[in-house]
Amino acid sequence: MRRSLPAALGVAILAVCAGHTRLDAQDSPIAGPGTAPITLHAATLIDGRGKVTHDVLVSVRAGKIERVEAGVGARGRGATYDLGSATLLPGLIDAHVHPGWYINSQGALHSGRDTDTPAQSALARAGNMYATLMAGFTTIQSVGGMEDLDLRDAVNRWQIPGPRVLTSLGQINNKNLSVDSLRSVVRAYKAQGADVIKLFASAGLGAGGAQTFSDEQLAAICGEAKTVGSRSVVHAISAGSVRAATLAGCTEIEHGTFATDAELKLMAEHGTIFDPQVCLVFQNYIDHRDVYGRSGYTEASFTSLANAIPTATEMFKHALATPKLQIIFGTDAVALAHGRNADELLCRVKAGRKPMDAVTSATSLAAKALGLGDHLGVVAAGFDADIIAVRGDPAASIEAVRNVVFVMRGGVVFAGKH
Ligand SMILES: [Zn+2]
Repeated sequence: MRRSLPAALGVAILAVCAGHTRLDAQDSPIAGPGTAPITLHAATLIDGRGKVTHDVLVSVRAGKIERVEAGVGARGRGATYDLGSATLLPGLIDAHVHPGWYINSQGALHSGRDTDTPAQSALARAGNMYATLMAGFTTIQSVGGMEDLDLRDAVNRWQIPGPRVLTSLGQINNKNLSVDSLRSVVRAYKAQGADVIKLFASAGLGAGGAQTFSDEQLAAICGEAKTVGSRSVVHAISAGSVRAATLAGCTEIEHGTFATDAELKLMAEHGTIFDPQVCLVFQNYIDHRDVYGRSGYTEASFTSLANAIPTATEMFKHALATPKLQIIFGTDAVALAHGRNADELLCRVKAGRKPMDAVTSATSLAAKALGLGDHLGVVAAGFDADIIAVRGDPAASIEAVRNVVFVMRGGVVFAGKH
């Protein structure tokens, strides 16, 4: 049965506001994956590893992909969802999102000091999650706030429509702490349920992005993360901070705006995963200058954001030319960018990434980088049924990723007609 999405969202939000009541999966407003088979038929499948097949029938049961067949002919016509000329691909993965960021009831960026109620915050964040899912993103890595605990939980219990969430629950950036204290902060996040550790190795873009934590502090944080079985994701803007985070053994580097060929090569040699941003995060602040201007962003910050676009684009071209560098997809989506995540794919292709490689970076490569590669990021038998369909062929024209016509996460259909 096709679900009415706004109704599902409304019911879900009531459940969030109800607070402490725990619901079992079968009592949740969104029915979880059933045992009845669901079949999808489409003209084309991009499997997430760069392979293309045609006239495809995908069979899903109990949240998993059971079978993928190509060249099915007349059998395709009996599919539960016949998506015609559309292209199927794995649900997209955004490795850097801030689902907790939203515009408050006064029209400025929400902060802990405004007058929004917890219910208003929960509703706004549920809206961010819904927009992200409808844009075809079925998994996000949030880096991160404590509110993610409830968002992750609500999605897992089928209370709200949204992407599955990995979260750092917070960000480590106090350079006055001793290495022992920093190690205990890592353990505390892990104990609270963090999926990943997020730290700042550098100042922000506007402040020039110079290294903040010492080499020893970086080694302590990323080393402790490894000890407790977590990945470490590092904000690093300057070349020096990228170098230091790489040498400290951190798992994944974000931004890298001023990285040079030397740092890009170093990351490749160390197997450090790189998640640069080319446009969306910068452009989003500029496009919403009124709102962010009311929220404390100055003329100088808008200028440095505008200047960052050509700088980041040039750096990205060098990253693409660096042999063996693992580049994944992450947008740094903040308030008003949720649901526009795919725009970043377009700029990356404009900067020179092949469209198919861009898709792979947001599917199988991102899944592997996030430690989910054994069950997500690929449309193949045995994988979780996170599948989207887009109108057109993204491998020929990446703009197609903005035209999402079908969304399934964990075997549950959130958008798409029979
Ligand atoms: Zn960020």
